Amino acid sequence: MDFINLKAQYSAYKNEIDSEISKILNNSSFIGGDKLKEFEANLAKYVGVKNAIGCSSGTSALYLALRALGISYDDEVIVPSFTFIATAEVVALVGAKPVFVDIDLDDFNLSIEEVKKAISPKTKAIIAVSIFGQMPDLFAFKKLCDEKNITLIEDGAQSFGASYKDKKSCSIAHISCTSFFPSKPLGAYGDGGAIFCDDDFLAQKIKILLNHGQTQKYNHEFIGINARLDTLQAAILDVKLKYFDDELKTRAKLAANYDKNLKNCQIPKIKKDFISVYAQYSVLVEDRARVIEKFKQANIPYAIHYPIPLHKQPCFKEFSHLELKNSEFISEHILSLPFSAFLKEEEQEKIINLFANL
Ligand SMILES: *Cc1c(COP(=O)(O)O)cnc(C)c1O
Repeated sequence: MDFINLKAQYSAYKNEIDSEISKILNNSSFIGGDKLKEFEANLAKYVGVKNAIGCSSGTSALYLALRALGISYDDEVIVPSFTFIATAEVVALVGAKPVFVDIDLDDFNLSIEEVKKAISPKTKAIIAVSIFGQMPDLFAFKKLCDEKNITLIEDGAQSFGASYKDKKSCSIAHISCTSFFPSKPLGAYGDGGAIFCDDDFLAQKIKILLNHGQTQKYNHEFIGINARLDTLQAAILDVKLKYFDDELKTRAKLAANYDKNLKNCQIPKIKKDFISVYAQYSVLVEDRARVIEKFKQANIPYAIHYPIPLHKQPCFKEFSHLELKNSEFISEHILSLPFSAFLKEEEQEKIINLFANL
């Protein structure tokens, strides 16, 4: 059994993907070009924003967002502690200070009440992560940010395709970022990511920064970086995007089956009016070591997202005195189960049986 069955997904779209890859190889236009523009236009349409900009990873997308906003030394950026390292890493990389805030226990997303307490005159942005594929209430965060003159960034690395009421993930915040890492809901065959925003000025600045700060060939207005999405990945992703909504429907069915039948654990709570894409189907278990032992015996893959909250990471040791109880509790009890649109019925049954017999 695979944790995420990427091989079955490739088999399903093989002819089309192979043909798109071979077109790029034949015309040898590997950087930029029409295919990238086409994919970016399709992304913008799918999400419902004016600008979608492909970039080299979810991490570089977040980095570019901060750079485009001019966030730097002496600035503070509020981030959750229960997330992947990239969310906070980029804040440190631009020289600003990550301010770690606790999460809510119902959806494991940034707690707006805790955020309110953490805002200071130095706060320039809030990065709200849509963890495991479900957004926080970004309308509430946006309202708070507008009142305080702070920028809201959605880290939608895990939530591409999710929605709240009729708005898609990556369409509510001032700037939103996603990742196309192979195991994400929409995955490339290598690294990739995208940035979304309605603001044309910001979009233009991001496009310049991700191409060495270049405004004309060999004229470098800003210190930039190479963070472009390569054309092969754009071509592959453009094929997968066509089938993405079908995959999401299957994911929703599989998640509902887990919800209904899993015993001896706490299933994910999806808030009213929110649709999750279940980047991870993660449950809470009381005695994780014991459950993992059962997974190992049954030869079923599992994962822990994430075993150490960021304020306890060695690279952020100056924040280790913080007590963020919910982040610490969830890190100790979370367990992610095999999940993808290509998870087989009999595989899911095996996992359900394992929980029934705990
Ligand atoms: C995966 C992920 C990222 C980073 O994306 P990459 O494409 O791997 O650089 C950032 N934030 C979160 C929450 C993620 O899950």
